[in-house]
Amino acid sequence: MRIPLIAGNWKMNNTIADAQKLAELIVDFLNKFDKDREVLLCAPFTALYALKTTLKGSKVKLAAQNMHCEDSGAYTGEISPLMLSEIAVDYVLIGHSERRQYFYESDEFLNKKIKAALKHGIKPILCVGETLEQREANIEKQTVEAQIVNALKDVDVNSFENIALAYEPIWAIGTGKTASSEQAQEMIMHIRNVIKKLYNEKAAEITRILYGGSVKASNTTEIMSKADIDGVLVGGASLKAEEFIGIINY
Ligand code: PEP
Repeated sequence: MRIPLIAGNWKMNNTIADAQKLAELIVDFLNKFDKDREVLLCAPFTALYALKTTLKGSKVKLAAQNMHCEDSGAYTGEISPLMLSEIAVDYVLIGHSERRQYFYESDEFLNKKIKAALKHGIKPILCVGETLEQREANIEKQTVEAQIVNALKDVDVNSFENIALAYEPIWAIGTGKTASSEQAQEMIMHIRNVIKKLYNEKAAEITRILYGGSVKASNTTEIMSKADIDGVLVGGASLKAEEFIGIINY
């Protein structure tokens, strides 16, 4: 049974004070909520430590949006998995398309990050997705498959209890243009088959695969009605408590 995972990716938004206020509203809501959901806040590094206190005793989990693969060293401006494990974050986003696009993160680098996260007991959420040009050229499935094969290279089959994936078509991120639920289901089913082919049926069955790309309260029910979609990764709409709560309560 894959529990729906509703993750809010705040990106480079929210000061510590803003982050705490927003998190408190989510915690208050979840305290009175009994549907089976795992709720996750992917916050900027600067707010993580403070949020640990805000979220203490609540059902809300905490994630970083990125990390380096080394424990320490001469990597000015980077944050290590050791530092994140000290804060005891539950998850880390790996390979968000904005990291791939603006910071040139390669699948090989992401592979190192995934292994480092797992080593430190932090659950990676591997983000994959195609550009509009790739979809128009009908190479979206092979593009996503290659991202998965490369990013998961030599990752142990037993790690799948602790890995999630997020399918985020780049053309749908922050554009207001959502993939249709059929397009999302088709790709996410393909991703599950890729995991089955690379690993085994059990790994494919237990892995949660999320959809991301202009998710809002008004389209979550339709997206979540699809058999293979196990949750949503939400950008813009996770910055407003009311909207994000509407998504959690789809
Ligand atoms: C994201 O940040 O992962 C995302 C999907 O953004 P948005 O929901 O704003 O499209």
